[in-house]
Amino acid sequence: MRARIGARSMDKREFLKASGAVVAGSMLSHFVAGQEPTGPRENWAGNLTYSTDRLHMPGSVEEVRQVVKSCSKLRALGTRHSFNTIADSTQNQISLKRLDQIALDEKARTVTVGAGVTYGKLSPYIDDRGYALHNLASLPHISVAGAIATATHGSGVHNGNLATAIAGLEVVTADGELLALSREKDGERLLGAVVGLGGLGVVTSVTLELQPSFQVAQSVYEHLSLDHLEHHFDEIFSSGYSVSLFTDWQHHQATQVWIKRRLAPGDKNDWQPEFFGAKLATEKLHPIAGHEAEPCTEQRGTPGPWYERLPHFRMNFTPSSGRELQTEYFVPRDRGYEAILAVEKLRDQITPHLFITELRTIAADNLWMSMAYQRPSLAIHFTWKPEWPEVSKILPLIEKQLEPFDARPHWGKLFTVPPARLQAQYARLSDFKALLKHHDPEGKFRNEFLNKNLYSS
Ligand SMILES: Cc1cc2nc3c(=O)[nH]c(=O)nc-3n(C[C@H](O)[C@H](O)[C@H](O)COP(=O)(O)OP(=O)(O)OC[C@H]3O[C@@H](n4cnc5c(N)ncnc54)[C@H](O)[C@@H]3O)c2cc1C
Repeated sequence: MRARIGARSMDKREFLKASGAVVAGSMLSHFVAGQEPTGPRENWAGNLTYSTDRLHMPGSVEEVRQVVKSCSKLRALGTRHSFNTIADSTQNQISLKRLDQIALDEKARTVTVGAGVTYGKLSPYIDDRGYALHNLASLPHISVAGAIATATHGSGVHNGNLATAIAGLEVVTADGELLALSREKDGERLLGAVVGLGGLGVVTSVTLELQPSFQVAQSVYEHLSLDHLEHHFDEIFSSGYSVSLFTDWQHHQATQVWIKRRLAPGDKNDWQPEFFGAKLATEKLHPIAGHEAEPCTEQRGTPGPWYERLPHFRMNFTPSSGRELQTEYFVPRDRGYEAILAVEKLRDQITPHLFITELRTIAADNLWMSMAYQRPSLAIHFTWKPEWPEVSKILPLIEKQLEPFDARPHWGKLFTVPPARLQAQYARLSDFKALLKHHDPEGKFRNEFLNKNLYSS
């Protein structure tokens, strides 16, 4: 069976018939402890039907080891928020949802979480105990293990992606053994393993660095002319702890600027009525025009805990649009304005199929397969309408425009960059492949996505 990008939902029987494949019911009973044959077979956005019905759901590390030993091919699945086939498998998937323990180490100022834990579950837990993470993505619904595997990020010129907070990992490798990696003990190897693209093995737990809890206030400004980015790019993106510009690419403007400021006790929380000519919004806004703002985190400068302001969307609501597609490219921050102008040339092709674009910055890091590897970055993100036939034709045009900027696509979103060009963007790719080969010599954790993007030319 093959995953189909852009497929609409169909029932299982219809899908098996359409794909010409049959999984005999009797086969399902052969699987090891905790297998759940009727798991979610679509990704979150519903644009992808996974290529196997075999989903293992172990309840302990020991059961994970058994599953790994019993499968010749296996891919770990997080909360299914990736838009492409990175988590797909034609044979077996494993969900760590049931490994949901959280252990705080106040002395080390770290927290160790089971691979099933989401940021939405972790954040209030540590905040209640006086701690915070340095940053969050636009939504809290994703698993920590799945997010770091694709170098998921938030925004902020001084904020590395979420994987930069990782101080240690435990992974069940191809032979079923548990490998523990830590920053102190393994240095370089951990830098290679964290953004692992699901290729190193099944991560069972993750240790994250903490910092003292903090407050954030968020406000939105409307209608910022993109002209201001030419001479004030760094100033605009440094105007808060985390800053996002939203644009529909029309009228050379950011329709909204979301500024999230970190507040220390006693800090003033004043917001000027204008920001480079953009006007302070007096009502709460959704980044996509015409969408109700209720799912969004609080704005209008009201201070709140970091985890209720750093994401754009609240935990118990549908983030973003729901049925949608996403794409994102990382370019060097110091060429950010140039790259924006290059994409803007395609505005009349892009806008009809777009919900919204978001522009964010990410600090450089040393994680081998991170999109921000040794490069302070601007990420140009597209939330598309669920119109894959049209979107798939626009992506190569955008990628052509961004070729001079050595754009790196987000590992968890949709892209059509030719493998050779993609591979050329990762200076540590051969080291990463050597790491995978060492821990997975037979390619148990390789799927079509990795074969195509990392191993074919
Ligand atoms: C509405 C929405 C908003 C988003 N916003 C952002 C954003 O602000 N910033 C951003 O950077 N991205 C964003 N994303 C993308 C998302 O963060 C990434 O795709 C992320 O990887 C999804 O995590 P997941 O838990 O759903 O993992 P999945 O999508 O299920 O899997 C992703 C990868 O992680 C691997 N994986 C998962 N669990 C394990 C494990 N236990 N062991 C080993 N490998 C594992 C999988 O094999 C796969 O390779 C958004 C996505 C959506 C749908």
